[in-house]
Amino acid sequence: MTYLRRRCPAAVVDASQVERSRPRPGPARRRAVFVDRDGTLNPDLHYLADAARLEVYAGVAEGIRLLRAHGYLIVCVTNQSGIERGFYTEEEVGRIHARLNEILGRDGARVDAFYFCPHAPEAGCDCRKPGIALFERAQRDLGLYLPASAIVGDRSLDIEAGSRLGLFTALVPSRGHEREIARELEDRHLAADVVAPSFRAAAHRLLAHG
Ligand SMILES: [Mg+2]
Ligand SMILES: [Zn+2]
Repeated sequence: MTYLRRRCPAAVVDASQVERSRPRPGPARRRAVFVDRDGTLNPDLHYLADAARLEVYAGVAEGIRLLRAHGYLIVCVTNQSGIERGFYTEEEVGRIHARLNEILGRDGARVDAFYFCPHAPEAGCDCRKPGIALFERAQRDLGLYLPASAIVGDRSLDIEAGSRLGLFTALVPSRGHEREIARELEDRHLAADVVAPSFRAAAHRLLAHG
């Protein structure tokens, strides 16, 4: 089964769009906002395989549109252990990402590139967040300047990965898990630069930070 391979596919969707939308301030200083997927852009439906069931949180398209208008590439980095667990295939994940961009596109927004880890936690890979391999891969692929980049996520592992990379970190806590996330961060001696109630609010805070 090809989807059980250890090598991470690090799928880049529509990389051609990235070239065409090359933002200010130029490729050498290209900034990105890394975004988590489940629980951040869309409600986490737990091992979602069917793209038709995908929903996007209100305000996400607006937040993404705003960030892209300010020259940020939107790079989604997501853990999809459901692939190795056999709940869905890489192709189904690809369809979900295409559907996500279709929904965002209605509001003039899009994710510029997607990277996913297909492994189960037990695999001990370096691409599963809070591992940073996928972020480093995106940095190389897209020529990103990390000190001017940021991450938005709903879990402590997003903030942990962002902290390792020196990114500006914005936490939009997964609903109902606020205390658990706060405890996890405290245990790891980590803190998000911003805690926001929504993706849209996180985008505004991030732009205010500069
Ligand atoms: Mg998440
Ligand atoms: Zn992995």
